[in-house]
Amino acid sequence: MCSLFNWIQKSKSSTKKRSKFRKFLDTYCKPSDYFAAVRLILPNLDRERGSYGLKESVLATCIIDALGMSRESPDAVRLINWRKGGAKTGVNAGNFSLVASEVLQRRQGMISGGLTIKELNDLLDRLASSENRAEKISVLADLIRKTNAQEMKWIIMIILKDLKLGISEKSIFHEFHPDAEDLFNVTCDLKLVCERLRDRHQRHKRQDIEVGKAVRPQLALRVANAASAWKKLHGKEVVIECKFDGDRIQIHKNGADIHFFSRNFLDHPEYIHGMSNIIIQNVLVDRCILDGEMLVWDTSTDRFAEFGSNQEIAKAAKEGLASERQVLLDVAFDILYDGDTSVIHQSLKERHELLKKVVKPIKGRLEILVPDGGLNVHRAVGEPCWSRVAHNVDDVETFFKRTIENRDEGIVLKDLGSKWEPSDRSGKWLKLKPEYVRAGADLDVLIIGGYYGSGRRGGQVAQFLVGLAERPASNTYPRRFISFCRVGTGLSDEELDAVVNKLKPYFRKYEYPKKSPPSYYKVTNNSKERPDVWIDSPEKSIILSITSDIRTIRSEVFAAPYSLRFPRIDKVRDDKPWHECLDVNNWCSLVIIRHNG
Ligand code: ATP
Repeated sequence: MCSLFNWIQKSKSSTKKRSKFRKFLDTYCKPSDYFAAVRLILPNLDRERGSYGLKESVLATCIIDALGMSRESPDAVRLINWRKGGAKTGVNAGNFSLVASEVLQRRQGMISGGLTIKELNDLLDRLASSENRAEKISVLADLIRKTNAQEMKWIIMIILKDLKLGISEKSIFHEFHPDAEDLFNVTCDLKLVCERLRDRHQRHKRQDIEVGKAVRPQLALRVANAASAWKKLHGKEVVIECKFDGDRIQIHKNGADIHFFSRNFLDHPEYIHGMSNIIIQNVLVDRCILDGEMLVWDTSTDRFAEFGSNQEIAKAAKEGLASERQVLLDVAFDILYDGDTSVIHQSLKERHELLKKVVKPIKGRLEILVPDGGLNVHRAVGEPCWSRVAHNVDDVETFFKRTIENRDEGIVLKDLGSKWEPSDRSGKWLKLKPEYVRAGADLDVLIIGGYYGSGRRGGQVAQFLVGLAERPASNTYPRRFISFCRVGTGLSDEELDAVVNKLKPYFRKYEYPKKSPPSYYKVTNNSKERPDVWIDSPEKSIILSITSDIRTIRSEVFAAPYSLRFPRIDKVRDDKPWHECLDVNNWCSLVIIRHNG
């Protein structure tokens, strides 16, 4: 298996990569072993094993403990600071598995441990099911004992669910069996695909979706503005809908057995407590699949709660601590299965009719999104309509404008004649979001810190922590800066390099274990905010003009009271001196003005 990975990674062309995979299947695998092998090649699609709960930072400390190293030893520090690269060379920086394999090479021999694919799967099962850190460390120690550094490198990549092989999931599926991708899209079940499609030469009867098996969702194609959306859907009957800002959830109802599948086909039982009874009582058929968005509705403000509160509210409901004020709300915008038939081949217009028949909405808890009707909760500004048929481009513009006024996430345009297709992003649904259209003023903020990147930009600063000035006394320069947001996108590689090179002499490392930041910066204790380097002297720093989605978020991570959603660098303001940075009072007044409408 490791040789296969090495070969695939080394081969340049997709054809060669595919032929290595084919040879591996034909030469080294019995058909009954296909799943055991394919789940290691496509680890992010494997739902038979639970989650490992190991992202790079936790994995680093677990490996340190599994190897019995001191946390202060150079190798341990290297693992923890994997993004930063080695003291001298910086090689492998930003690639955790390469850094780990470098560290492991000094401890493991070159000789293969002879671990079989079956043994590896058993150990990975143990790793996923272990409930505490000590057990995880013991499994990792076991794995390290039974492998060499090369093998362990690939195992780490499997655990992190990204093999960086340079071959798409699509190509793997196509090489495996011509019907593999289709079958996976409608079942999200890799084991079933590997077991049913053992014979590449025997075509599989096209399978429809089933209640209880997640389906890969229909997706939306991004467009830049209303005119191009209208052009793309030229001649079609079009509905415009509000783009809700929650979690895409497929609700599968089979009598009293309810499942909530997310976009990446994970089952979310945490929604059972808050939602199941409502589904059982208000979905009027016994078996059905609803497609929609799960949100939190705030009854006191009559608005959607901030994005990201779903899990918290679901957990509270589970623990019997549900508040009356904030409740889970499912907005069903589509129906995929009704009774004993899949309805995805029907037109959206027909599915809307079905949705109206099948779901009895309850205000603020279970709503349906259909043209000119739908949602019993009102929009804050303008017409109380969340969905309408568009007759011309002006209708789209007007609806989109309302979206901005309402601070909604955006709009989705759908072809009312289209069927629902698993995993399709070909343009039957289009999305338009305010962040793609310049809205609102640019904000001039000061760079106060830097974060190392990963991958291509490993070992170099690739993102910035930017700050707002604390308002100085009149006719004086600001003395303190308040952390505001983290921003990385928007500049070309050359522009980013130019900023980083200018600031390099003023980078001060923020080493592990953590030291306190310079006193002229006001920051929080939140670890997500901690940059890898601080800018030593604000008066040597650079102003960036940033834009963002017009919506702001109440900031918990950063010291400023409000931060930005999806910030993007618009310009480097070489022409503006550091002290002309936006101050926090001005920023707050901008936010308040927008809140008031
Ligand atoms: P984004 O980050 O923009 O949400 P995405 O990659 O998650 O994009 P897209 O396919 O681009 O997903 O956009 C569709 C997503 O928008 C859906 O997965 C769903 O979560 C969300 N959404 C919100 N409202 C609607 C709606 N009315 N119809 C369809 N999808 C909607």
